[in-house]
Amino acid sequence: MKDRTLLMIPGPIEFEPAVLAALGAPTTSHIAPDFIDAFGQALERLKDVFLCPDGQPFIVAGSGTLAMDLAGANLIESGDRALVVNTGYFGDRYGALLERYGAEVTHVRAPVGGRPTIEAVAQALEGADYKLMTVTHVDTSTGVITDVKALAALARQHDALIVVDGVCSVAGEELRMSEWGVDVALTASQKAISVPPGLALLVACPRAMEAFRGRKTPVANYYADWNNWLPIMEAYEARRPSYFGTPAVNLIWALNVSLGQILAEGMEARFARHQALSRACKAAIAAVGLRQVPREPTFAASSMTAPYYPDGVAATDLLPRIKAAGAVVAGGLHPEIRAEYFRIGHMGPTNLGDILATVGAVEAGLAGCGHLSEPGAGVAAALEAYYADAG
Ligand code: PMP
Repeated sequence: MKDRTLLMIPGPIEFEPAVLAALGAPTTSHIAPDFIDAFGQALERLKDVFLCPDGQPFIVAGSGTLAMDLAGANLIESGDRALVVNTGYFGDRYGALLERYGAEVTHVRAPVGGRPTIEAVAQALEGADYKLMTVTHVDTSTGVITDVKALAALARQHDALIVVDGVCSVAGEELRMSEWGVDVALTASQKAISVPPGLALLVACPRAMEAFRGRKTPVANYYADWNNWLPIMEAYEARRPSYFGTPAVNLIWALNVSLGQILAEGMEARFARHQALSRACKAAIAAVGLRQVPREPTFAASSMTAPYYPDGVAATDLLPRIKAAGAVVAGGLHPEIRAEYFRIGHMGPTNLGDILATVGAVEAGLAGCGHLSEPGAGVAAALEAYYADAG
């Protein structure tokens, strides 16, 4: 039987058939003229998706952690101070990564499901001379979204570079790199960019490239060194062949198809669609009586929803039942609450039908665990929230 289970985790996600077809097409040479053209176009389109027309795009084979590494390795020199605005698991990862390059890292933290206040970050920035600040736009371990616009303004005031980990946000959440003054934003292919895992994607603004060019010591990571990749990206954008490491040819073909689809939808429409679907999902989760990890509705991301299990229900009770009803959702990730909550991804090509099917599967799972008072309440709430928004 065809597996028709919906993959509704916060990455990887369900992909468009045209993207998968590009991935499955016969592999071309990495210097074939049509591939050079597709790579060049993907680089140009990346700047449009990141809303950063004067940025320097990088497309490198690897996962999102490599994208984090590209920023860390190229912008940090031993002894630099870095501030991590920490909203969960991926903030911890960024701190550990920067320490590998010799940074003196300070974290500004909040309780699980919270986010540091702007005042707390401002106070930290005033306390020392930071070269760089990292912000996780959406921490996938909590579903908490940060206020990147306000944090970028703070970084500017304190002359610190701001690096945004947008792995769970870019092409789903509103992110305006140039307008907001974000120096580096990065992501991976498998989430809202909507391409199977395997590409690290990053856009660096002129201020970040200037800081890189001003380094006094060599980049301490050979594969991640922009000195190796910058000429390659420039060559492909200028439609010239070049080589440093063999590009992930099929993934780049697929990326170019997906970026074309994203831009055809339009960034504003895409942000609005993610917000409407998220409101529908969150209304449903509230209607079936589950609390969510983000402590305030304004802290909750649009790309995912993180509900707590009802009292007395464990992951092993609920998640297999949700799957049996047709949707795969993810368990917890944040070490402090790992066993207490689950995660639903709704980004990229997700539509209202996917949300309703997933909410229905969650209701079926809850019913199977003896925890549903009013079957259909979640689906009804999702529809109501969606159409109330649609006005
Ligand atoms: N940052 C965030 C916010 C993420 O969600 C993830 C992946 N879940 C990563 C970084 C790391 O990406 P990858 O797993 O592709 O290395």
